[in-house]
Amino acid sequence: MTNEIGTLGKLAIDGGEPVRTRPLPWELPGAHWIGAEEEELVGRVIRARSPFRFYGLDPQNMADTLEREWKAKFGATNALAMGSGTAALGVALGAIGVGPGDEVLVPGYMWTSCISAIVRQGAIPRLVDIDDTFCMDPADLARKINPRSRAVIYVNMSGAPGHVKEVVRVAHAHGLKVVEDCAQAANAHIDGRWAGSDGDIAIFSFQLNKNMTSGDGGMLTSSDPHLFRRAYALHDLGYPRNEAGRLDASEPEFQMWGVGARMSDLAAAMALAQFRKLDKITGAMRNAKWSIRRQLEGIPGLGFRTILDPDGDSGPFMITTYRDAATCKRFTEALRAEGIKGEKGSLACITMAEWGMHWYFNVPSLVNKREAARGGFPWSHPDNAFHADISYQRGNLPVCDEMSERAALLAIASVLTPADVDDIVAAFRKVAAVVLP
Ligand SMILES: *Cc1c(COP(=O)(O)O)cnc(C)c1O
Repeated sequence: MTNEIGTLGKLAIDGGEPVRTRPLPWELPGAHWIGAEEEELVGRVIRARSPFRFYGLDPQNMADTLEREWKAKFGATNALAMGSGTAALGVALGAIGVGPGDEVLVPGYMWTSCISAIVRQGAIPRLVDIDDTFCMDPADLARKINPRSRAVIYVNMSGAPGHVKEVVRVAHAHGLKVVEDCAQAANAHIDGRWAGSDGDIAIFSFQLNKNMTSGDGGMLTSSDPHLFRRAYALHDLGYPRNEAGRLDASEPEFQMWGVGARMSDLAAAMALAQFRKLDKITGAMRNAKWSIRRQLEGIPGLGFRTILDPDGDSGPFMITTYRDAATCKRFTEALRAEGIKGEKGSLACITMAEWGMHWYFNVPSLVNKREAARGGFPWSHPDNAFHADISYQRGNLPVCDEMSERAALLAIASVLTPADVDDIVAAFRKVAAVVLP
């Protein structure tokens, strides 16, 4: 390797030759795999003139089929196709019955949707720190639980679960429900359990930047029949449906307020085609990622996120850590100069400081406690007065605060070639040799 570094010479950021000049392929895992299968299934829905899932001229039952196949693959008892992951989070909390006076525990490394679901439900978010898995730290969860705690949102961040089993154990010991946010981790698993199978409700997203995509869309699963029935009514118009696909308002217990987050059969057709390719998409990312990571492990000064079960990593991101913020920034900028970056607009190679509303202190509506409805709701609700003691400013979660500064993220495209993988490894080695000593 010393020879190779010698011949490559100066870092591109210092005026040397870059390792590559062609942009890396876009992240957006499922998008690269859109093809004839999506066209065929979506076309069937269009030719049948039946884009609604519950009734129509000639329904093609794409959402039903997607739910059936999802349940079969992931061993889920109940599955519900949804309009988005964000809506699924809100519906999950609604099914649990979260409301004013309740606190929902949520990690400081997440996506802004996790927070909006809590606030829109009328409850107060309570931040929990992460550990070296970049997911919720069960020890900090145990410290943060208090009599107002009602539920936990566990986020399987950046493609892989962390100590989810322990989090669920702690939560259940205190009588709290757990929503597993698997928006970034469809098809991940840990020690033989699929992501989403530990908590009480799991949600997935099919937005463009997720492991599979229908543009927008999502899935909600639960093995609890009562929670699932509530979720079903809530995701629609607040009532169950009968065999004919019509609303059934006869049961007083299921006269609720729905959010209108059904999946259309058009989106379901697309999601179904993508779902059938999910093993290939995540397999490609996982193989490329671990090929890169295994070739880089052992370089002094270059750290990696702890992945408890590498075989179960769905693979869309490789997180690296550095000794301090300055080194992290310098390293990442040097990598980009070597050509380890995507097309314009891509976030393929960034420091975690550039990762926006994935960090609690970067969510302006949270930090500034913005209202979800007029009059300052839910912060102004008398049952929520306790929020006065809670701050969401940077400085509240030591590990999040530190990792947001000295960690970096490389998106692993689902179509990296062996040559792309070689370039990434060569660039890391070249930059490490100069920046890390
Ligand atoms: C993308 C994402 C969501 C929201 O999903 P949408 O389908 O975009 O609404 C929720 N949580 C996490 C962790 C996400 O990454």
